[in-house]
Amino acid sequence: MTGNPLSRRDVMRGAVMLGVGAATGGFTIAGATPAMAAVAAPTIASCATWGARPPSSSLSVISTSPDKILVHHTAGANSTDYSQAHAYAVARSIQNTHMDDNGWSDTGQHFTVSRGGYVMEGRHNSLARLQAGSGMVVGAHCPGQNDKAIGIENEGLYTSATPPAALYNRLVQLCAYICDQYNINATKIYGHRDYLATACPGDVLYAKLPQLRSDVAALLAGGSTPPPTFSTIIDNTTTGRFTASANWLTSSYSTQRYGADYRYANPEAISDPAYYKANIPADGLYKIDVWYPGIAGYNTATPYIVLAKDGNQTVVVNQTTGGGAWRTLGNFTLTAGDKDVVGVSRWSSASGYVIADAVRITAV
Ligand SMILES: [Zn+2]
Repeated sequence: MTGNPLSRRDVMRGAVMLGVGAATGGFTIAGATPAMAAVAAPTIASCATWGARPPSSSLSVISTSPDKILVHHTAGANSTDYSQAHAYAVARSIQNTHMDDNGWSDTGQHFTVSRGGYVMEGRHNSLARLQAGSGMVVGAHCPGQNDKAIGIENEGLYTSATPPAALYNRLVQLCAYICDQYNINATKIYGHRDYLATACPGDVLYAKLPQLRSDVAALLAGGSTPPPTFSTIIDNTTTGRFTASANWLTSSYSTQRYGADYRYANPEAISDPAYYKANIPADGLYKIDVWYPGIAGYNTATPYIVLAKDGNQTVVVNQTTGGGAWRTLGNFTLTAGDKDVVGVSRWSSASGYVIADAVRITAV
């Protein structure tokens, strides 16, 4: 098979739908945010909000602004309690350790991000200086950098585990806000180990720093970030979210199906895709998984088409194996809006039914 399995008409249909939405104000259009708008501040719980103790001695606030950000991990447990109450308890625990065990005046770092995505002020005066966009409280998170770098502690141990999306996405937002307020370039985000012989912030989080710099730069350039918890499943029976022509028949033959049934069609060199529609909350990166019953005799080369920001991207899937489970097509940059996101094409080079069952879209 050569060529694009979606016809020009299909592509135009998507464009027209976007236009209707814009006219009725039904949903957000990508790029509606002015490029020069300041980065939205994440909600940051102040020391008073999470119940900090007062510092044991006066803190040094200096007029020079920080020139970089240092990323840390707490090296504590990878808790599965993602609540605000837990986040605040982590902040209090860190402060107790830093004051009572380390003998410091106050929490060492400037800010803390929990695994559930809550952001908290660390050392007193960190938040006020950040909001002012000038000066800083001298921290205690990295010798030699305490009067130059904003220190961010991320809850957890990331030597081999991956930070939860909620934490990572909030870290992106926090770093972008800090960079915006202090006029720090996104390239000036470092790991603790860049300035001290330490494993911090763990191999996995450290390896994500190039991605972090690029995501922060994108946000500073006027992009938005998807809510960290966004995830949606669209089945072939989901009302108003799945469309297919009458050529797509319905079956419940395979027990590997998702939900009550699935749709199938003969492969043919025509443009007759089944479409999955989703309300994408913001421009950003999303993981797309598909579910189909995998049976010998189904199609070995089914084209899934993702209507991504940079155009249609086709991923060919062998639907005779790997069925009855989520199978990842990959990560794709999607634009905001309520629209068709994934199509299953009949334009396959192989024989056997092509299957349209369920699709899952998750912000990453
Ligand atoms: Zn560290």
